Amino acid sequence: MSQEDATPHRLGLATDAHVRYVQGLDSKKDELDYWLTEHLRLNGVYWGLTAIHLLGKPNALPRQETLDFVLSCQHPNGGFGAAPGHDAHMLSTVSAVQILAMIDALDELDSRGPDIADLQDPSSGSFYGDEWGEDDTRFLYGALNALSLLGSLSLVNLDKAATYVESCANFDGGYGVKPGAESHSGQIFTCLAALSICGRLDTVNREKLTGWLSERQTPGGGLNGRPEKTEDVCYSWWVLASLAILGRTHWIDRSALANFILSSQDAENGGISDRPGNMVDVWHTCFGLAGLSLLEYPAGMQGERRAKYVVLQTSNVRYEAGGPSYNETAMSSTTGFYAKV
Ligand SMILES: [Zn+2]
Repeated sequence: MSQEDATPHRLGLATDAHVRYVQGLDSKKDELDYWLTEHLRLNGVYWGLTAIHLLGKPNALPRQETLDFVLSCQHPNGGFGAAPGHDAHMLSTVSAVQILAMIDALDELDSRGPDIADLQDPSSGSFYGDEWGEDDTRFLYGALNALSLLGSLSLVNLDKAATYVESCANFDGGYGVKPGAESHSGQIFTCLAALSICGRLDTVNREKLTGWLSERQTPGGGLNGRPEKTEDVCYSWWVLASLAILGRTHWIDRSALANFILSSQDAENGGISDRPGNMVDVWHTCFGLAGLSLLEYPAGMQGERRAKYVVLQTSNVRYEAGGPSYNETAMSSTTGFYAKV
């Protein structure tokens, strides 16, 4: 393939195929994967919905069915599970709030909003994911994101939350899942976005962190999550959004990254995979498109439409189906992110 053939504009974004792919996700109930990923169902709806919004087809999924499904996941205490009958958790609750925000249905929560503020540890400022008490900077960010969308940030202690995030900073400028943990691009995104919402980006070591983030680009144009790791489309979001918060997306080769993402799409059947040639999934489809949106690709995805949906993106976590092993972070942008940076 010649250099000219490899340019993003020659590859093009297969918009119609991606919309059809997202629309078809819910029709695969006879496939094992559908049930193995039940613990991600609400997150999956969020990723699919975000994808069609980014593609400029916000009505490609039925609004009433989406609303009914989200509300069917809510518990009497206001929190949301990943699917009907699942325990309430911060991550699915955040997805629920984000979905409702995207379909202009937040008023459905008027009578029984989730008690997210109760999950903040009053001594450390961090947040638990659920009543069992596991804490993680992803939960802290997710909580602030959802509370921001709900207009309820005043219910929590933002100073303590910011201080906790600062305690997770490392010598390389990055952040880990908790104090002393290794820097990781996904965690860096959640910490930067949380600090942005708290109005405390002044605490960030911008020079070191921008350098670390820009070193995530590989010769193939993609970005990786940590040193020595393979590039992966979803990090197009975590790394690039972090650089966007710092105002430095120009520290990487933007054209090479767009080309990497576009090379990872299935132009015929729709969907985007983690890297060229692999199986597509809704997670990488969402974050590949989110990465392209930050790159302002395609050119039509700019202005009001782009701004609105990038602001509404959020944070989640993905675990391997059937096990608790940490796979890769699935968060995304922020509310308050573009508004406050
Ligand atoms: Zn990935």
